[in-house]
Amino acid sequence: MPSSDRILIRGGTILSMDFAVGELPIGDVLVEDGKIVAVAPKLDIADCESIDATDTIVMPGFVDTHRHTWQAPWRNIASDWTLAHYFSGLHAGLSGHYRPEDTYIGNLLGTLEALDSGITTLLDWSHNLNTPAHADGAVAALFESGSRVVFAHGGGAPEWSGVPSDVPHTRDAKRIREQYFNSDDQLVTMAMALRGPQFAPGATSEADWALARELGTRVTVHVGDGAWGKTRPIAWMRERGFLTPDVTYVHCCTLADDELRMIADSGGSASVAPDIELQMGHGWPATGRLLDVGIRPSISIDVCTATAGHMFGAMRSALSTQRGLDNAAIEAAGGDASEMDQLKVSCRDVLSFATIEGARACGLDHRTGSLTPGKDADLIVLRADSLGMTPLNNPAGAVVYNGHPGLVETVLVAGKVVKRDGTLVGVDQARVRRLAIETRDYLLSTAHGDPRLADAQLGGDWLPSAYAAA
Ligand SMILES: [Zn+2]
Repeated sequence: MPSSDRILIRGGTILSMDFAVGELPIGDVLVEDGKIVAVAPKLDIADCESIDATDTIVMPGFVDTHRHTWQAPWRNIASDWTLAHYFSGLHAGLSGHYRPEDTYIGNLLGTLEALDSGITTLLDWSHNLNTPAHADGAVAALFESGSRVVFAHGGGAPEWSGVPSDVPHTRDAKRIREQYFNSDDQLVTMAMALRGPQFAPGATSEADWALARELGTRVTVHVGDGAWGKTRPIAWMRERGFLTPDVTYVHCCTLADDELRMIADSGGSASVAPDIELQMGHGWPATGRLLDVGIRPSISIDVCTATAGHMFGAMRSALSTQRGLDNAAIEAAGGDASEMDQLKVSCRDVLSFATIEGARACGLDHRTGSLTPGKDADLIVLRADSLGMTPLNNPAGAVVYNGHPGLVETVLVAGKVVKRDGTLVGVDQARVRRLAIETRDYLLSTAHGDPRLADAQLGGDWLPSAYAAA
């Protein structure tokens, strides 16, 4: 619940991510009743809690627009896997062995990890909802976390074990909507995570879409990953009237140019997951191609089974990849990339992708994504007094290139301090760690009774056997 107390965050370098508010070399932020009330160079307020932000950067919390949070106990198991290994090991394999309590602790670990790293809004792309009890566990963890979360209901192993799958999206989503998400004004809200035409046959996909419309939620869908993305999924969706402003298109790497324009014309949003797209053969991250058609993308982590769960790394991957692509295009055209007048994508651009554009992609830009008076106070305070941040000559560049979760000193969600002095408030971290390790150990032991997963092991050498190199 929002705090009714007034909090003054004093004397930080402010990156508001709101053009009207701007960037302040030194400034104060006043929070009252959970909302940002004022942002100014100096606010003389006496009767309030004060947070000294000297030698820090104060900015909106990050927004991750696509994460399969339930996979957190399998952190880095897939860091050297292909997409085929991932589908075999996680979806056809481990996912089906999850108990509801495993889904719960996966979501709790993953959401708290994100919050600890400054991600104050997470879209949980939840596709391990194998039974209603799994869905209850997933949702319970999100409410417990204290983070702002969009719970995107994506079905579970029945829908995802084989693709394309004609198993319809479970109607338990309707129960979840009615039981937990009657209001769209809560800290945790609901969307529908649909398979779309790449991962379900046409008639199944149409039925899934009808369910989402019945529930009245936003939609998030994977499109444009690898060869699947070249089957013109967007054109298919357009013929059926599925391209609406409340849809977020995840990846978009291999969509045709005219399909990107169709998304732009519809007012839809995009989520780029650079690390996973580069690792798992989805194609080049579409950041620049999206910008070319007028879509400012958001950024997502996707799977912590492979990559890190924080936005600093994802921002660097997105920026460096796009800069490389832009330079290669100039060289290919006979130019000299070292003599460009200006780089096409800036650090400020990438910071906006990771904050306000993420909020837009979640339909929450009226609440979060920038330090704008009237919005909920979702903000982070990053230490800038480390040797690696000194001197602070370019705050946006410092966050993108020098940032890491260890700098995240203070985090507020809807005006409530959820991380203070570098530690999450009210979280029994020992319990979360113990339960996550117990779940990992349980699932590993169970997997050994499954012929498809008999060679599962920790340490980095396991390649799910169905796809092991000959
Ligand atoms: Zn995904």
